[in-house]
Amino acid sequence: MANTDVPDLDTFLEGLRKRNPGQEEFAQAVGEVAEDILPFIADNENYQEAEILRRLAEPDRVVSFRVCWEDDDGNIHVERGWRVQNNNAIGPYKGGLRFSESVTESVLKFLAFEQTFKNSLTGLPMGGGKGGSNFNPKGKSDREVMRFCQSFMTELYRHIGPSVDVPAGDIGVGSREIGYLFGQYKRITGRWEGVLTGKALEYGGSRLRTEATGYGVVYFLREMLKNADEELDGKTAVVSGSGNVALYAAQKLIDCGAKVLTLSDSDGFVHDPDGIDAEKLDWVMKLKLERRGRISEYADEFDGAEYHEGNAPWHVDCDIALPCATQNELDDDAAKALLDNDVMAVVEGANMPSTRDAAKRFRKSDILFGPAKAANAGGVAVSGLEMTQNSQRMSWECDKLDDMLTQLMAEIHEKCRSDGESDDGAVDYVRGANIAGFRKVADAMLDFGVM
Ligand code: NDP
Repeated sequence: MANTDVPDLDTFLEGLRKRNPGQEEFAQAVGEVAEDILPFIADNENYQEAEILRRLAEPDRVVSFRVCWEDDDGNIHVERGWRVQNNNAIGPYKGGLRFSESVTESVLKFLAFEQTFKNSLTGLPMGGGKGGSNFNPKGKSDREVMRFCQSFMTELYRHIGPSVDVPAGDIGVGSREIGYLFGQYKRITGRWEGVLTGKALEYGGSRLRTEATGYGVVYFLREMLKNADEELDGKTAVVSGSGNVALYAAQKLIDCGAKVLTLSDSDGFVHDPDGIDAEKLDWVMKLKLERRGRISEYADEFDGAEYHEGNAPWHVDCDIALPCATQNELDDDAAKALLDNDVMAVVEGANMPSTRDAAKRFRKSDILFGPAKAANAGGVAVSGLEMTQNSQRMSWECDKLDDMLTQLMAEIHEKCRSDGESDDGAVDYVRGANIAGFRKVADAMLDFGVM
């Protein structure tokens, strides 16, 4: 008789930590999901009997490889590259590439694990993966970045393909890097195929992909507010980060009538009590995307704005907080400060931006708390639509894609709501996202048998 006893969370995590020593980010991500899934599988014996959660928390494979590149002065550098293919039960592995000195196997395993649930929530046929390198593109010349990307793809190409694994961008991997990576894949294989997403429009990219994650975060927030009989118009919002997700989330907030008070980068944050309006945001877009400047320059440009070196924006009084920079950027003290200031909604644009304690505090409170795997799924959803356009040799218009994104985010919200709502009508969006994301992948895995 197979064992159908569901382990308690501590026992489950103890085993996970033993198998993955020192991989704290991975343990944190799995722990957050297991907290909701273990009670759920206690009522669904077949998932436990097939050890679905244990299998999901063991990546299908982790490929790691050496990446050598030569800088402009002729010095040779040796970095490490990875691709974590977590699970392809419902479609080809799909997830971004991150280039940052903070990248480790643990960070990529956490991201690939999360991606599996996120991709499932989109309803599109995509499995979960993630990859990257500890290479830091900051301060490197275009040619140095090109040589690194070519070297990285020279190894990665043998592990990916349009029906196998379709990487995209993430921190440190934008359109420049995707161009170099795609060019090298095409050179090695001799094939033009939709093997990467986030491509430029000229060679098969999708309209709206750049904006999709940030816009999707705000569409998800809008659905949460609607469900609570609230609206965005007139609300104040604190946003962290000033990269792809933060800037387009800020743009959509402004479009919807909210007042954006802050933006940040890894050096500090700017606070503009008059609000960062569309014109000022346009200036920031040029600063960050074209000149690769620092957010501190905003305070020199606009009267009334203040720059706070070395700090995050969570003590600024606001109705809505969108952490859109990086993992664990919002700790328990920050969560307390937001709640003390009567924040109404916290929605995660970045992946796992709230520490475990901060997330627990938000879940215990009565605010609306939107977890990353649901709220920031708009980017990968439009990536999925890019794959469809590539395979059909089509290029859809922006309005059509924006309608599809709006609809997809509303559907993701509805899945989270229906699995996360308790009898008193309160919605635990974290539980809803975990259960809805898990169920689809788990059911597919059951159909395949034990492997
Ligand atoms: P970018 O590289 O475009 O921007 C990241 C931003 O975060 C930059 O402003 C960066 O500042 C800041 N940042 C990085 N590290 C820190 C830190 N330790 N403390 C404070 N700020 C920091 O990345 P994206 O906007 O693409 O991604 C942001 C987050 O969203 C990540 O968690 C990513 O995984 C997630 N995400 C992204 C998606 C996408 O489509 N791009 C899709 C889904 C999730 P600096 O310039 O100083 O480094």
